[in-house]
Amino acid sequence: MSEGSKKTEVSLEDITSLCKRRGFIFQGSEVYGGLSGTWDYGPLGVVLKKNLMNLWWQTFVEERDDIFGVDASILMNPKVWQASGHVDTFTDPLVECSNCKSRFREDHIDKSKCPTCGTKNSFGDPRQFNMMFKTNVGPVQNEDNISFLRPETAQGIFTNYKNVVDTLYPDVPFGIAQQGKAFRNEISPRDFVFRSREFEQMEIEYFIHSEGWEKHFEKWRTDIKSFLKESGVNIDSLHELEVPDDELAHYSKRTIDYEFEYPHGKDELLGLAYRTDFDLMNIQNSSGKKMEYRPKDGGEAFVPHVIEPSFGVERLVMAVLVSAYSKDEQNGEERIFLKLPEHIAPVKFCVSPLLKNKPELVAKAKEVYKALKEKHGAIMWDDNGNIGKRYRRQDEIGTPYCVVVDFDTLEDGTVTVRDRDTTEQTRRKPEEL
Ligand code: ATP
Repeated sequence: MSEGSKKTEVSLEDITSLCKRRGFIFQGSEVYGGLSGTWDYGPLGVVLKKNLMNLWWQTFVEERDDIFGVDASILMNPKVWQASGHVDTFTDPLVECSNCKSRFREDHIDKSKCPTCGTKNSFGDPRQFNMMFKTNVGPVQNEDNISFLRPETAQGIFTNYKNVVDTLYPDVPFGIAQQGKAFRNEISPRDFVFRSREFEQMEIEYFIHSEGWEKHFEKWRTDIKSFLKESGVNIDSLHELEVPDDELAHYSKRTIDYEFEYPHGKDELLGLAYRTDFDLMNIQNSSGKKMEYRPKDGGEAFVPHVIEPSFGVERLVMAVLVSAYSKDEQNGEERIFLKLPEHIAPVKFCVSPLLKNKPELVAKAKEVYKALKEKHGAIMWDDNGNIGKRYRRQDEIGTPYCVVVDFDTLEDGTVTVRDRDTTEQTRRKPEEL
């Protein structure tokens, strides 16, 4: 969406119901009544998500010479989580209602009244609840083989820092990027996919010399914003929240939370943090292996500092959907359409014959469909219902163009191309699309 364009008011219900009705996102294990905090991507959602993840990979890895990718295991040696501080401190404050036993994250509720049963002042002191999912590695279940499903992808990057340095000899500054699943046993998953128990992250650790960290941080601010814009996030709804000094984690010198105006309120879409040498020093101290970097010019060895942009895929998907969600009036009727950027939309063109009971139209439309599919891949065939219904369906999934084969096509080879945003129809040769 362009800057300054008019925003449509959108509720959480608008987004969840569109996602369900059009096959973007379903409740996880829905046939069995669901599993709280889990979501399944349907045929269109998976393409939307992949398009966003691919754009991120292309922007930050493929198009750059200084960032390399890794794909680390989800299960890691438990020492990783001890050294990183997750075993001791990756907790949220949990409170329980003494009447109905419902549990909440303390900072998510007004504690004067239980949101479930309405009892007043039924909450005691909070206890710290660790959000990592525990599991046992191997057939024996005992304390020695406990591991965790990773709660962030970042540690899989730090543990591979030395491997990357020793195999590629990159110059500092350089970055390591990873995309993948992360798991957090959130006390109260909520707001659709925004707060899930299983989600996907895209993280980069950008290794720098501590001197001049400010200029790298500024560059990341610019790069993040232009990526979000390219993804279709409405930049007018994005706010940089500078985390005040007294609220910074002890190892961070600066953190910006990028907040987006979601239907449930302004909330964190991603974070950008200068984490100093905290993580590499932790690994060095607990593994006994040197994390030093030796400059090729013979300069003094040092342990690099890092700047970490940390994106959540679900929160990006949601921000893109909210930004794209639009309404207008067509022929006296309300129309819902997703104004997704063309490179993000799950379907690029929808092809259909004007009438599905005319074999000559169907045959010609199939020909056009096949040619477009070979060229663009993400093409949909739709001959259900009348043309008006098809347009409505395609508008709701954000298809930029609908191509209709009619009797004129048989005469002059041109097709009707209908534009999603303007609804304007033009006649074009399919080869020109
Ligand atoms: P919050 O304060 O909202 O719980 P956080 O500050 O703990 O989030 P980080 O640890 O900084 O989040 O994680 C990095 C990113 O991972 C977040 O900016 C977000 O995009 C994503 N993320 C974190 N937790 C979740 C979750 N439960 N569901 C979906 N995405 C998440």
